Amino acid sequence: MSVFEADGFDHHEQVVFASDAATGLRAIIAIHDTRRGPALGGCRYWHYPDERAALTDVLRLSRGMTYKAAMADLPLGGGKTVVLADPAAAKTPDLMRALGRAVERLGGRYIVAEDVGTSPADMAEVRKETRHVSGLDSGGGDPSPATAYGVWRGIHAAVNHRLRRNRLDGLRVAVQGVGHVGYHLCRHLHEDGARLYVSDVRAASVERAAREFGATPVAPENIHDVEADVFAPCALGAVVNDRTVERLRVAVVAGSANNQLAQDRHGDRLAERGILYAPDYVINAGGLINVQHERMEGGYDRAAAYAHIGRIERTLVELFGRAERDGVPPHVAADRVAEDRLRAAA
Ligand code: NAD
Repeated sequence: MSVFEADGFDHHEQVVFASDAATGLRAIIAIHDTRRGPALGGCRYWHYPDERAALTDVLRLSRGMTYKAAMADLPLGGGKTVVLADPAAAKTPDLMRALGRAVERLGGRYIVAEDVGTSPADMAEVRKETRHVSGLDSGGGDPSPATAYGVWRGIHAAVNHRLRRNRLDGLRVAVQGVGHVGYHLCRHLHEDGARLYVSDVRAASVERAAREFGATPVAPENIHDVEADVFAPCALGAVVNDRTVERLRVAVVAGSANNQLAQDRHGDRLAERGILYAPDYVINAGGLINVQHERMEGGYDRAAAYAHIGRIERTLVELFGRAERDGVPPHVAADRVAEDRLRAAA
């Protein structure tokens, strides 16, 4: 299996395969770019079908972190870890400590945090072996509410730009996935008076959103067909794809999921259809900003962190303006801004 030829490889600075015999740890840590600062990115614990799938995932996700940090104007680069979970064995504290030792060996070039499949408690185990870890309960804790707050502010920016509306009352929002981020996003939108349509593969999550926010349940396979103002993908990547892009009946796509566009051409198609897309790595940077605030001298200050996250709204307003001026879709404009900033840092 070649790394240099792998899907998702984009001149990554360093890709480390880490293993530990005693705990069975098998992990890949990808450091994409450290021109703006140490590479920060979460640790995903996942049952991958094979090693190649895990490699592609970590390469893509780490690159995304570089662009996310640059757009949020953070002094960070992009990195990510995937742990190839063994379906036959449970995640143990010792395994997380072994991961901590692997992170420690990188000497601070990479900082790990929680992600899908890992928690602040796991990061506390990692912390026993390295200080290059964030997302601890003693700091900002679970980043999901921070991510949701940023997405909510981003939806304000997109709705204002596309629909010329300052308020969200009566706005119809279809939310795909009411997990950690989706739930908190629904709460903000409900407080604004928005009308929610929600889908999730977990019935209990849908029932909770219906009960607490008066949301209308939608079957997972039908969420792309809902006639609404906003489609907020908060579950999976690649949700805007050949199968769904023509079905969307919304004015805005804005949600927390990473890698929402299956391919860039799907972003082009959204623009052709008059659907405004809020680039994923711009609108979902709240968790990363929160994690960076944990690392600041003087400790975590929630008010300062949330003020910083709120700036996502202005960033998107500027980005939509630049996209129009340059005559390109927002995802292209975002890449240009991020790449300008990376070149400037070099
Ligand atoms: P989560 O696992 O808590 O929530 C995802 C939800 O989506 C779950 O409830 C799951 O049941 C549901 N789901 C899965 N497949 C679905 C389908 N086909 N249709 C509808 N629902 C489905 O994860 P999360 O932390 O809420 O993150 C959501 C998304 O946002 C992920 O793509 C994640 O990578 C991204 N993200 C999260 C953060 C964060 O701070 N948690 C930060 C940036 C990006």
